[in-house]
Parts: sequence; structure tokens; C-alpha cells
Amino acid sequence: MYGFSFDRASSVQDAVAKAAKGSQLLAGGQTLLASMKQRLTSPESLVDLSSIADLQGICKDGNAIVIGAMTRHQDVANNKEIQSTIPGLARLAGGIGDRQVRAMGTMGGSVANNDPAACYPSGVLGLGATIKTNRREIAADSFFQGMFSTALEPGELIVAIRFPIPKASGYAAACIALCIARHICCQN
Ligand SMILES: Cc1cc2nc3c(=O)[nH]c(=O)nc-3n(C[C@H](O)[C@H](O)[C@H](O)COP(=O)(O)OP(=O)(O)OC[C@H]3O[C@@H](n4cnc5c(N)ncnc54)[C@H](O)[C@@H]3O)c2cc1C
Repeated sequence: MYGFSFDRASSVQDAVAKAAKGSQLLAGGQTLLASMKQRLTSPESLVDLSSIADLQGICKDGNAIVIGAMTRHQDVANNKEIQSTIPGLARLAGGIGDRQVRAMGTMGGSVANNDPAACYPSGVLGLGATIKTNRREIAADSFFQGMFSTALEPGELIVAIRFPIPKASGYAAACIALCIARHICCQN
């Protein structure tokens, strides 16, 4: 690994201000740190999002589940509310990588990265979720724009993702089931 500076943001505004000065956002580091080690990317400074309370948590809001961007995969997998309302999403999260990846990796990091091999983008698309950033709300259909490419603008930060609760959901590794569930079962 090469030398870089590391800072911890205390709030969304603090993170955005640091990003505006050139720092790259660090969530679970499961993609970013590996990319840095391999010199696929080489930011000179990182700003850690893990201390920002506004990016944490899972809550039911009307007919939707809202999940904070820094929510770890294991917390989505183990959450009783998600297991009962969107079991396909809990199953998806529980199948990501291994125990360490699930303990560190976050929903916001996965969605922002938009790796074509990642599981969350298909789930977010299939369930017709909305991505809430520090600036706006973006429908999943408009958010994902291509491989590793999203509608996020420089310095824009994902705060949370809102999932409408479907009548039923399921997930298979082929990432097809949630899409089917959306078309035949979604209440919206
Ligand atoms: C061994 C291994 C196996 C894996 N297996 C799977 C798998 O089976 N399925 C799967 O889906 N994924 C898998 N992953 C990827 C994993 O899910 C990562 O958690 C995910 O790709 C990135 O999330 P992160 O929180 O680690 O983000 P980071 O690596 O910290 O960041 C990724 C990118 O997102 C940006 N970012 C982070 N948070 C935000 C935010 N809130 N707003 C805007 N930008 C942000 C960062 O600046 C960076 O560019 C695997 C990873 C590893 C190392």
C-alpha cells in the first residue's frame, strides 16, 4: 500500500466538504482498499463515513423500508423487519461474499460502486428502490447508468435507500427473482 491521508467525517456535511477538497469517500473499504492495493485507483486522501449517525440504521416508513447507506450487509441479512417484509433482500445480503465482507461492506458502497457482478444493484433495481443522496432522490431506473457508472455527481453522497415493500420477494444468485417479483407482485 502507498501512503495516503485518512480522516473521519463527523456528519454528512463534513464528509461532503472533505470530498469537495479531493478526499475519496470510504465506506466498508471492501472494494476501495483492494483497488488501492492493486493501484487500480490511488486517492491521496480518504474520508471515513463510519462515524456518521445519519448514514446508519434500518427503519420502516409507511409502506417502505429505509436503509442507511452505511448499513453493513450482515445487518441487512439479520434484520427481522427486512426478513419479514422483504425476505428476498435479506437473503441477498446474507449471500454476499464471506463473513468478513458482510461485516464490513455497506449497501451504500456497493450501490455507489455499481460493479456489474455485485448483488445489491439488481436488488435495488428489481424492487424499484429510490436512492437518497445529500442533494436529491434518484429512482433506481435512472441511477444505474452502466458498468461502474451511476448518476452520482462528484461530491454527491448516498445517504439512504428506500425500498417499497412488495407483496412478495425472492432472490436467487442469478439475480432474476427480485425483478420478476417486482413486475408481478409490487404494490406500487
Ligand atoms: C472477497 C470479496 C467478496 C465479495 N463478494 C461479493 C458478492 O458476492 N456480492 C456482492 O455484491 N459484493 C461482493 N463483494 C463486494 C462487497 O459487497 C463490497 O462491500 C462493496 O462492493 C463495496 O462496499 P463498501 O462498503 O466496502 O465500499 P467501499 O469499498 O468503501 O467504497 C466503494 C466505492 O463507493 C464509494 N462510496 C462508498 N460509500 C458511498 C456513499 N455513501 N456515497 C457515495 N459513494 C460512496 C467509495 O468512494 C468507493 O468509490 C465482495 C468483496 C470482497 C472483498
